Amino acid sequence: MSAARLKSTGRYRVPVASQAKETPINNLKTLATLMDREAGFAVPIRPQGAATSSTDCNRCATGTIALMSGLDRILNIDSYNHTVTAQAGVRLYALTEALAEHGLELIGNHEMTGRTLGGAIAAPCLGPSIGNQHGSLASSVTSLKMISGNGKAMTIGTDRKNLLGAVCSSYGLLGIIAEATLKVQPQTNFSATHRKLTIANFCSIADTLSNSDVGFRFALMPHRDRVYLDLRRYSADAGETYNMPWKIKDWGESTVLPHMCKSLNRLLPIQSVRYRVIDTVSQATQGIVNSRFVRSGNNGTMQGRTASSIKKVLYSTWCFPASDFSFVVQAYRDFCRENYERTGYRCDVPAIGYRICKDASSILSPSFDEPMVALQTTSTQLDGWEDFVIDLADFAEHWAGVPIFNQTRSLRADYAKQVYANRLTYFRKLRRQMDPENRLLTPFMAQFFQ
Ligand SMILES: Cc1cc2nc3c(=O)[nH]c(=O)nc-3n(C[C@H](O)[C@H](O)[C@H](O)COP(=O)(O)OP(=O)(O)OC[C@H]3O[C@@H](n4cnc5c(N)ncnc54)[C@H](O)[C@@H]3O)c2cc1C
Repeated sequence: MSAARLKSTGRYRVPVASQAKETPINNLKTLATLMDREAGFAVPIRPQGAATSSTDCNRCATGTIALMSGLDRILNIDSYNHTVTAQAGVRLYALTEALAEHGLELIGNHEMTGRTLGGAIAAPCLGPSIGNQHGSLASSVTSLKMISGNGKAMTIGTDRKNLLGAVCSSYGLLGIIAEATLKVQPQTNFSATHRKLTIANFCSIADTLSNSDVGFRFALMPHRDRVYLDLRRYSADAGETYNMPWKIKDWGESTVLPHMCKSLNRLLPIQSVRYRVIDTVSQATQGIVNSRFVRSGNNGTMQGRTASSIKKVLYSTWCFPASDFSFVVQAYRDFCRENYERTGYRCDVPAIGYRICKDASSILSPSFDEPMVALQTTSTQLDGWEDFVIDLADFAEHWAGVPIFNQTRSLRADYAKQVYANRLTYFRKLRRQMDPENRLLTPFMAQFFQ
């Protein structure tokens, strides 16, 4: 059923049995050889970081997959000028830990710290924005070294802002990033408060929140009419911050909950009973992890979702204009309920959402024009998921959703072209210069970028 639907709507998916050769990249010389046109590596070449994306952007059916996580050296932390230089395969949690030893942190609240620096720059790395600066990690990049699709080694800095903005969020389509320098900041504490609300109550404050400089993140349970809201404000009075409460919160949300959902799905065959139990467990977990226990933090303490837990969930992310979100969230609840009634499929894990501020630092930024709310729909249930994400894509298109090429499942190419319009045209032009032989282009990426 879903394969037929995919085909009928022209959506492409990499076959499960891929023939591509995986090539570990452990040093710059191997990367240079791989990108050398004379070296004879099979094309297309796809860079892969921690492979936490939910689309086929980081793999290919034939050709070469460049495994970047071996390039994992932190090259310099400049405590005086507040910068860090690191290779592309460094995991964000390693970077965060090294910076914390110098009293520094990455700019922006970034979860999923199992991802690599290269993946976080080449694909949007989003998190709840506090204030109106820094929607993504890419906005703090000051320079990077890469090898372009035509094999040219390049160093790109803020003096070539347009090119830097194109390479950030380029999904490895202009070249492979080898290392990057980022602005960082002294550790700054924020206070975190928590609320449990009905969806209607959440809607009544969503507009006010979206227009303020408070950072917010929420867990949404459409079938229980519940929102667990987490509000973050920079505050001199935030008090001591500790890693442990955030680690427990992360463990509860990203490991314990998906595990329990998976087990309950196996143990409880009667659907109505199963979902009643799963929702009760989810509510209890949210109640515990978002307690007064987690009262303050900084961008170093809130290290979420390391690589070990990433394979346990399926997800698809869409961004919606923050100005409309109070309507979207109610429509989303109705969509989930109607879809469940019609198809028998529903997500078992709460959806996660957060506001991202306007950020035009990279050309393909999803919040290029205005602040958005990212909504990450999550499940552990594979049976029915592919059909669900097609319906979700139809819903999102109706509500002016903005897709992210590495996180949005079952995206229609025509819709993506319509949303990214002139920015995509400009990006394609640049691509033709930097990768004229399409060595980095796979059939999946070609749907959007050729
Ligand atoms: C449970 C879960 C939660 C998540 N939560 C968030 C979240 O809160 N916010 C968010 O923004 N994302 C989130 N993500 C999505 C994902 O983690 C990010 O998009 C991440 O930035 C991808 O990094 P990666 O190292 O896994 O890259 P990959 O998935 O391996 O690759 C991503 C893209 O970047 C390219 N690429 C990788 N390395 C390089 C390089 N060195 N040079 C050039 N191109 C390269 C790849 O070809 C691909 O197109 C989540 C994912 C999961 C599974």
